[in-house]
Amino acid sequence: MNKDYQKLADNKEEYLKYETNEVITWCGGCGNYGIQNALERALVLENLKPKDCLFCFDIGCHGNGSDKIGTEEVYTLHGLHGRVIPVAGGAAVANPNMKVIAEAGDGGTMSEGVNHLVHGVRSDYPMLFILHNNENYGLTTGQASACTRKGHPMNGSPDGVIAEPMNVCDFVLALNPTFVARTFSGDVKHMTEILRAALNHKGFAFVEVMQTCPTYNRATPQEWYLERVNVLKTAPKTIEAARKAAADFENKINVGVLYQDKKIPNYLGRLENRQGVKTTPVDEVGRFDIKSLLKKFE
Ligand code: SF4
Repeated sequence: MNKDYQKLADNKEEYLKYETNEVITWCGGCGNYGIQNALERALVLENLKPKDCLFCFDIGCHGNGSDKIGTEEVYTLHGLHGRVIPVAGGAAVANPNMKVIAEAGDGGTMSEGVNHLVHGVRSDYPMLFILHNNENYGLTTGQASACTRKGHPMNGSPDGVIAEPMNVCDFVLALNPTFVARTFSGDVKHMTEILRAALNHKGFAFVEVMQTCPTYNRATPQEWYLERVNVLKTAPKTIEAARKAAADFENKINVGVLYQDKKIPNYLGRLENRQGVKTTPVDEVGRFDIKSLLKKFE
C-alpha cells in the first residue's frame, strides 16, 4: 500500500474528526466533494489537528462546507460575499499559531472580492487560499462569473457570455506571489499533494481548483478536463515561465505547483516591530468583556 494511504488508514480516527454528521446538500457529482476530501486527507497527512486550524468560507456552494467539516473541535467562520480573504488574513496575523485556510468561489473572488485577492497576494498573509473555480455562480442558479467560458449560455445571459474568461493563475502570477498552484477536482490524489505543499508554505498560498459543476456549468464537464489536464512534474523556476505554463486553459491545461518562492519573508516576517516577539497579538489583547460597552446601546 502507498505510504500516504497507509498513514491515512493508521490515522482513521483523526480523519473522521474532519468528517460530518450533517446532511450534505451539494448536487450529485459536484466537485466540492473531492475538494473537501482532498483537504481532509492533506490535513491528516500533515498532522494538523482540527483544533489547530481555522476554516474560513466565503458565500457560495463551497461555503455550505462550513457546517460540513468536523464532528468536533473545529473552528469555522462564514464571511460575507467576496470578503473571506481580509477576514482570514486578519485571523492569521492575529494568531499565527493557527493554520488558517480560506475558501471561496470564482464569483466572489474574481468580481466582488477581487481587490481583496490582490492585497492578500501582495501582503503575503500566512494562509492557504483555495479558489473553487466552477466558472459560474452556482449557489444563485448558474449566472455567468468572470471565469465563464465565452459564448456559453447561462442564466442571465441566455445568448451566451460575450466577454473572455479570466485566467486566474495568470492574474495572480502578475501580482508577484510566493505560491501559486492549479489542480483539478476530479483528481483527489493530485489535489491532496498540492494542498499539502500549500499547507507547508509560509506565506499566501494560492490554489486554484478547476472544479466541475454538473448542474450549471456544462461547458467544462469532468470529461472535458480529463482530456486536457496535464500534470507538471516540476514547478517552473521563474514567474515568467510559470505564466507561460498557466497561459493555456483551453487545450492543454497544466496543473501542479506553478510557482513558489520560499525565501521571501511573509507578512509577519516583514513587520519589524514583531521580530523577536514571542507572544501573538491574540495573547497580548487577551479576553475583554464587552458587556459594559454594549450597555451604551441599551
Ligand atoms: Fe456543486 Fe454546481 Fe450543485 Fe453548486 S450548483 S452544489 S457547484 S454542482
